[in-house]
Amino acid sequence: MAKTGTLFIVSTPIGNLDDITHRAIKILNEVDLIAAEDTRHSQKLLQHWGVNTRMTAVHDHNEKQISDRLIDQLKGGMDIALISDAGTPLISDPGYNLVNRCTEKEVTVVPVPGVCAAIAALSASGLPTDQFLFYGFLPVKQVAKHSVLERLNNETATTVFYESPRRIADTVKAIIEVLGEERKITIAKEITKAFETFYSASAVEVLAWLLDDANHQRGEFVLMVAGAPKNDTEMPPESLQLLKTLIAELPLKKAAAITASHYGLKKNALYQYGLTLNE
Ligand code: SAM
Repeated sequence: MAKTGTLFIVSTPIGNLDDITHRAIKILNEVDLIAAEDTRHSQKLLQHWGVNTRMTAVHDHNEKQISDRLIDQLKGGMDIALISDAGTPLISDPGYNLVNRCTEKEVTVVPVPGVCAAIAALSASGLPTDQFLFYGFLPVKQVAKHSVLERLNNETATTVFYESPRRIADTVKAIIEVLGEERKITIAKEITKAFETFYSASAVEVLAWLLDDANHQRGEFVLMVAGAPKNDTEMPPESLQLLKTLIAELPLKKAAAITASHYGLKKNALYQYGLTLNE
């Protein structure tokens, strides 16, 4: 019996065709079949890199049916690469059903990592990156959009959204209504493309910038919203552990200051907590 093939999840560029790894090109050349979200769109990339591997279409509307066929082909020994129109497959893109079925059917799935718009945007946003929540696309309907934002009201991590040019201004308006005018936002637009722009300001300033010039609302967007301020009294267990460790070696004042700066907490709250440890 033929050895089962491997499904490779291959990241592709989000604009600049050079943003693809050597390994990705090698795998795309070596596999028996490339399953692409839109074969015509991907043809450009494959041509650019001299890849002639056969393609088949896998998109949201046919993924369930096509998955059965692809799994049969993998079981029959074929190696297959999954790509999407841009970035990392499965990240707000098709592929979940296929990968989920492969793991159930014991087909090996191998990631070939590369670009993801969310990570590229976050890395240059200037917003905290120690904790972030990737939300993907917000619901289109107003009520549902507001209710998601309300649930995020107390989120202290940076939240990362994908948004379409048609809705970007409307979404920033909704953020102002629910999270307030002053919430800090970074917009990353057309990353890796000719008109790449990062704009960081308060929500109300970002809305003014978007409305100021029709060009500001064109292109592809990642919208990042700074987390809610951390509650002064909320001290994660790891911070208290660090404080205790430092107290063994340092005066309480110094230990509290180091812990506060490491975790972005209030020095005084940690100092007060430290005092209770000696009681
Ligand atoms: N799988 C992709 C990834 O790894 O980033 C995301 C696919 S999702 C269907 C497309 C969305 O990603 C766009 O609507 C936009 O929000 C974001 N995006 C993709 N390319 C981008 C770019 N060059 N600049 C900014 N945002 C981008």
